[in-house]
Amino acid sequence: MHLQNIVFIVLFLAAFSLFTYNLLRIRSYLVLGRGENRFSQAGNRILKVLGVGIGQSKILRDPAAGIMHAFIFWGFMVLITAVLEAFIQGFYSGFSLAMLGSISMVFFASQDIFGSLVILAVLYALYRRFIVKPKRLQGDGGTNADAVFILMLIMGVMLTMFGVNATKSFVHPENASYYKAHFIASQITPLFSTTSAVTFYNIFWWGHILIILTFMNYLPYSKHFHIVTSLPNVYLAKIGPQTLDTEEINFESENVFLGAGDIEQLTWKEMFDGYACTECGRCTSVCPANLTGKPLSPRKIIMDIRERTSEKAPLLVNRGEIPADVESRKLVSEHYITDEELWACTSCMACVQECPVNIEHVNPIVDMRRFLVQSESRFPDELMTVFGNMENNGAPWAYPQSDRLRWTVGLDAAVPVAAEKQEFDVLYWVGCAGSFDARYQNVSRSVATLLDKAKVNYAVLGTEEKCNGDSARRLGNEFLAQMMIKENVETMKKYKFGKILVSCPHCLQTIGNEYKAFGGDYEVMHHSEFLGELIQQNRIVIDDTKKIDKKITYHDSCYLGRYNDIYEEPRKLIEDVNKGELVEMKRSKDRGLCCGAGGGRMWMEEKVGKKVNIERTEEALSLEPDVISTACPFCMTMLTDGVKEIGRAENVKVKDFAELVLESSR
Ligand code: SF4
Ligand code: SF4
Repeated sequence: MHLQNIVFIVLFLAAFSLFTYNLLRIRSYLVLGRGENRFSQAGNRILKVLGVGIGQSKILRDPAAGIMHAFIFWGFMVLITAVLEAFIQGFYSGFSLAMLGSISMVFFASQDIFGSLVILAVLYALYRRFIVKPKRLQGDGGTNADAVFILMLIMGVMLTMFGVNATKSFVHPENASYYKAHFIASQITPLFSTTSAVTFYNIFWWGHILIILTFMNYLPYSKHFHIVTSLPNVYLAKIGPQTLDTEEINFESENVFLGAGDIEQLTWKEMFDGYACTECGRCTSVCPANLTGKPLSPRKIIMDIRERTSEKAPLLVNRGEIPADVESRKLVSEHYITDEELWACTSCMACVQECPVNIEHVNPIVDMRRFLVQSESRFPDELMTVFGNMENNGAPWAYPQSDRLRWTVGLDAAVPVAAEKQEFDVLYWVGCAGSFDARYQNVSRSVATLLDKAKVNYAVLGTEEKCNGDSARRLGNEFLAQMMIKENVETMKKYKFGKILVSCPHCLQTIGNEYKAFGGDYEVMHHSEFLGELIQQNRIVIDDTKKIDKKITYHDSCYLGRYNDIYEEPRKLIEDVNKGELVEMKRSKDRGLCCGAGGGRMWMEEKVGKKVNIERTEEALSLEPDVISTACPFCMTMLTDGVKEIGRAENVKVKDFAELVLESSR
């Protein structure tokens, strides 16, 4: 063993020990959080890692920056062969991948190709950061220094690799025929004389090793720790519908979870997200609250969680006294995340959709809202009335539960009620808006009329129905939400039915995906899917002479689209009933902009910045449509208000497609 090997082994052991220490340190912080199972469905998780992680599918949604990042990522994967070769040589200098024979030439050529691509990508990254300066890379206290240091280290790894590859034939002349595969590195080989090449080889080799070991140990202190955490974070992300983390509240227990005011009340995964964030700003760049001037940046929420974890977790782990000033700087306080930031969120999920490492921003936001409502009783004044209505009337509206069938007034046929029918195929869940909102009652009447036309054996719960609990949950009033959810589940247990039909995507999400945790496992369909099926089965017949002939644009509801992946069915329905053009807004489908009403924002005043519904309505109106079609009662309210406020209500109508189907059917 040579001196070089001994020095290498000492450095290697020291670097790996430090790296392992840092991993264990961060792990000890995470175990302070609430427990959560993120290890089930391994097969689906691996598929997600292959698509989002290895395939870089979300990164590539922003093509220019995406390709740059993907080259660096894929380049690093391919270049592992070069790193491994250098590390094995640290233990045994005579090692070379050339021992693999002609296969090694594939590795050598790919090292040159991907090494060059990584260098180009790093140069482009520097150009973007300093010349283009995209808006999403600015703000939230992020600096260029960390990114530039990392880019320099990556550049150093690449250049030293090329240096080693250009000179190694002088050190291992017996492998020279295989090294010809370094078709780019070999271009600089003539720059070295036979006498200087070995010295340069050693400089490049040591440079390569030292930069990699430095890189590895700098990562845990850098935002680029995502290089280590992003694939695990994608693996650990939610599989299936984006539900809120739910624990059934035991109202008798003293340890009931009242919300997250500080890091130890977050789940370990919510803390882990902080360590996976790349600070790329994709989440903030699509956030409707941020875009309209509200004090909310989803990136900052995640960065604040990480900052606060770094501040408080070491003290908690060491079980020492936590200084009063550290204790008082809670996560939810003016030092980190303010009430105003939390209340600005519409829970639209655009941030989660865009995040390239599958960070889940909405869960911690709602956990922190729970803290504000349930622990601190701190919430906007207008919510007092809304919570009161939900408690007393089972709905956010100020109408008594006994009025739940008022929407049926004017219908030709009586609407069947579950209590009288007991057994039926379809339970039509009308929802609070469908029952009480004057405009949306017409949608309920349209759906009921279509169900009659199609001879569907259905019933409604009528005065037994209560709010599904979505608004209360997203507003942080989990006690109230669970009370209503449990009552609804008990009510539905009394009847025999096949599936539930809903018109409201918030009912679809909550009853379909979140009632399971409370013993209510139902098949729930939105009316866009259900009416489409009835048309296909010829149970609803579209009359060619009654077909609409309008220019229509469709506004995607966040809870139908991003939450439940329903994008095509509403568009298909519109095409079925309309002879005119269906025009798409620039922000549509999974990039659709929220109307501003989700997450309980429907019930809150919007005092700061531009109104989200005006931003969205302007986008729709820029297409000069005759009709803006919606699939959600909240969207309908927000866009109807928007059209009125902009003064276009005379010539642009906001309609649910149930109304369009009814207008054009026989
Ligand atoms: S859910 Fe929507 S409103 Fe809330 S932080 Fe994410 S993008 Fe912004
Ligand atoms: S949360 Fe995701 S999208 Fe937002 S800055 Fe971090 S990595 Fe980027």
